[in-house]
Amino acid sequence: MRPLIAGNWKMHGTLAEAAALAGAVRDGAGGLPADLLVCPPFLHVAAVAAALRGSAVAVGAQDCHAAAKGAHTGDVSAAMLRDAGATHVILGHSERRTDHGETDAAVRAKAAAAAGAGLVPVVCVGETEAERLGGQAEAVVSRQLAESLPDGFAGVVAYEPVWAIGTGRTPTEADIAAIHGTIRAALAARFGAAGGTTRILYGGSMKPGNAAAILALPDVDGGLVGGASLVAADFLAIARAAG
Ligand code: PEP
Repeated sequence: MRPLIAGNWKMHGTLAEAAALAGAVRDGAGGLPADLLVCPPFLHVAAVAAALRGSAVAVGAQDCHAAAKGAHTGDVSAAMLRDAGATHVILGHSERRTDHGETDAAVRAKAAAAAGAGLVPVVCVGETEAERLGGQAEAVVSRQLAESLPDGFAGVVAYEPVWAIGTGRTPTEADIAAIHGTIRAALAARFGAAGGTTRILYGGSMKPGNAAAILALPDVDGGLVGGASLVAADFLAIARAAG
């Protein structure tokens, strides 16, 4: 399937910097062997979507609330994101699970809300270093997957080992392939044919130098890129490596 390279801009950049980065990605997006998605902070979603309108680059957010509207100070609904021009939303990123105590049940509710509002949920799963060292990686990821995905899920899954995010460390290629195979089997068992075509992204210190090897692994259908997505040339180089 055609790979997806998604950039998670996290809490970085002024409005002007976001617009400039979006423009640089747009200008280099022609003829790539992958679909592109950029996920700026909430505040910049509308401007980035406007800058990318008509281009091959999609826009997503990094979270949404599970409710359609209401008394939820500081939160943003999926419908608001759709209205601002987003087509995707990252959900259950480990930084949200850690910083905001998001549970699998909360992620599941958000994913259902996102889909209901017409957004493609990009649901993140991944083990901590202690869980990996304890031989629990596959069990943890399987549990997160089972409990974070709503019935009828038609989105994207991102496998992001927590200990690989922003650290410059990555699992071995064999470990990535093993977990992606486990995720594929779980998706196929639960969702049938649709599970066979769900994109499974790898995330965690993906860079231009390691992207080709990771993206060539079985059941790796793209990448979720943090730090390297803030430099257009690096993000585009990762996308080229998907070919
Ligand atoms: C992420 O946080 O989604 C991520 C993959 O970050 P990095 O690429 O910086 O490790």
